Amino acid sequence: MKGNMYTLKTPEYVFAYSHILPFHKGACSRIHGHSGIIRISVTGNKLNEFVVDFKILKKEVEKIVDEFDHKFIVGSLDCEIIENEGSDLITIIPDGYRQLTLFETDIVLIDGHSTAEDISEYILDKVIENFIMKYGYRNVKKVGIEFGEGPRNRIYLERDINI
Ligand SMILES: [Zn+2]
Repeated sequence: MKGNMYTLKTPEYVFAYSHILPFHKGACSRIHGHSGIIRISVTGNKLNEFVVDFKILKKEVEKIVDEFDHKFIVGSLDCEIIENEGSDLITIIPDGYRQLTLFETDIVLIDGHSTAEDISEYILDKVIENFIMKYGYRNVKKVGIEFGEGPRNRIYLERDINI
């Protein structure tokens, strides 16, 4: 044991999404879309031969990408959300006067706002729960996400893991 720490990085996954940031003072207060970019990184020492099973990690990230692809991402703090009893339609009211009615399967509801910051946190929570915790990777010390709202505007979020 040499104390080596390795960082694995998944490929970049690209997906299309739309959202609205009603609190924004500029163009983001209108409905618009992005090509989202996700890359997950996992830092830890080797457990036997590898840090983690890279194939399973990629599969888990692909599942999350599929969940988001071509969806409308709604932040719980951005919009009033009305479920229509006996129907699979959801009504979203971003700012008190506009209304969108969409199929439940067309949206992803996340906590907070549909900003790069809160989308990153939602995805990171899922990776930790569905991969790190599920497979009990006690050797993993950090998990990170690089998230792009398009190719130019990127954010990096990293969390220490201690299981
Ligand atoms: Zn945007």
